[in-house]
Amino acid sequence: MRLDLAGLRDTFHGTLVTPYDPGYEAARVLFNTRVRTRPALIAQCADTADVAAAIGFARAAGLPLAVRGGGHHAAGLSLVEGGVVVDVGGLRSISLDAQARTVTVGPGVGWRDIDKVTYVAHSFTGDDGLEYGLAGPGGECPTVSNAGYSLGGGYGPLGRTYGLGCDHIVAAEVVDADGTVLTVSQDEHPDLFWALRGAGGAGFGVVTSLTYRLNPLPKTVVGGVIAWPVARAEEVFRAYRDLYDGRTDERLAFCLLLTTEPYPDGEQVVVMYGLYVGPPGEAAEALKPIEALGEPLFSSIGETSYFDLMQGMGEEIVYGLQSKWLGGYFTPDGFDEPAFATILDSFRRMPSGYSMVRFDLLGGGAIGRVAPDATAFVHRAPLHYISVIAQWQGDEETDRNVAWVDDFVERLAPHLTGEVYQNYASRDLTDWAGAYYGANYPRLQQVKQRYDPQDVFHTPQSVRLP
Ligand SMILES: Cc1cc2nc3c(=O)[nH]c(=O)nc-3n(C[C@H](O)[C@H](O)[C@H](O)COP(=O)(O)OP(=O)(O)OC[C@H]3O[C@@H](n4cnc5c(N)ncnc54)[C@H](O)[C@@H]3O)c2cc1C
Repeated sequence: MRLDLAGLRDTFHGTLVTPYDPGYEAARVLFNTRVRTRPALIAQCADTADVAAAIGFARAAGLPLAVRGGGHHAAGLSLVEGGVVVDVGGLRSISLDAQARTVTVGPGVGWRDIDKVTYVAHSFTGDDGLEYGLAGPGGECPTVSNAGYSLGGGYGPLGRTYGLGCDHIVAAEVVDADGTVLTVSQDEHPDLFWALRGAGGAGFGVVTSLTYRLNPLPKTVVGGVIAWPVARAEEVFRAYRDLYDGRTDERLAFCLLLTTEPYPDGEQVVVMYGLYVGPPGEAAEALKPIEALGEPLFSSIGETSYFDLMQGMGEEIVYGLQSKWLGGYFTPDGFDEPAFATILDSFRRMPSGYSMVRFDLLGGGAIGRVAPDATAFVHRAPLHYISVIAQWQGDEETDRNVAWVDDFVERLAPHLTGEVYQNYASRDLTDWAGAYYGANYPRLQQVKQRYDPQDVFHTPQSVRLP
């Protein structure tokens, strides 16, 4: 059935895409191409007024709503079958306030584009005489939206040093279920401000701008990628565990990855990648335990810029694949020998060379210093997370790849807490509210009651009314 869009078209500044438009498939498809959900309308908003108009249209037509930014939701909840997608991917403004060291951005823009303005184009000289830029709290993927990332937490390489993406939000503009535009901060709508920082994508409104504080970072840092054959993985895992266990240097920001190099038919490798978040002269000491591992397969560790490093990591991401993503936080002593053996055994049996196992959410440091109830982001204690990410091409490969992920995570369950990072969402979770939000969930329900009492922003995993 065709929707009557005449009234909406009169006022809408962006683009309205329906299944009758040739651009529909391109507008619909998500990073995870396994998601086949077909909305009735994708309202590609050009401004805040469009967001309010799209919400009003969906409500008047009695259609379900979904909110879409960069299209990377692992479980596809930024689309809704037969409903209206409020697509804010086109809201891409970037405004740096160098004096205040903040940046105000549209929700659609990715972190590399923000870094170009705040870190690459902007420079100042630090007290140590080095040249600095201002870095945002971004992640690796250039096409993940800053809003989707930060509203659900936001783990990036600077996290241990400076905190999560959500910890950097100082203000937000939000369109609520009635189309009212709210300015949200510690002083205005503090309860919604609390909920946005960790559960902002879980059904409170549509965020149309975010203001972040920024961190000074030298223009030259030491970082890169270092890889060993998978045969040496247990040794590398142990060194990685010891790198962070009880260590106080919060500037060491290296993650771990099991992957195939090059995709999909190359050698299975174990990779450490990241940077030392400080002046290059101080990096050597911190990197000693990694160097002690001896001759790697390859290494690009050296002086580089934070931007080039992140850009390089983003270029490794393969688009157009189907995927299934499961994982969890390790128990305090879970990231240890018995888990290593299980992980490596499962990894070696990976059916697709596009798949990977990532330990890219490194906790501790500044992340752990924020109380679990200070924001909606509850997972403050764990140090290590595992993501098992199956990626494959054709539908005929689906069953064995899904089975591989399921079996992997089931075998690992004794070493995991049961908590799951809400931005690495899975439809398989029966207690998703407990896994994502833990003890913060009842308070989130109160905020939901206040800002969306009609449950307009309902998805299979949005916060429920009390
Ligand atoms: C390849 C890849 C790399 C990633 N790397 C990292 C990483 O390094 N660190 C990390 O922490 N996460 C990472 N993620 C996870 C990512 O942060 C989440 O998937 C995030 O939700 C994606 O946001 P999006 O806007 O791109 O996706 P979308 O699918 O468009 O949106 C996801 C959900 O976010 C909510 N949302 C998005 N925008 C808004 C808005 N403006 N207002 C209200 N709600 C909104 C909605 O609920 C929506 O369903 C990665 C994901 C992928 C696929």
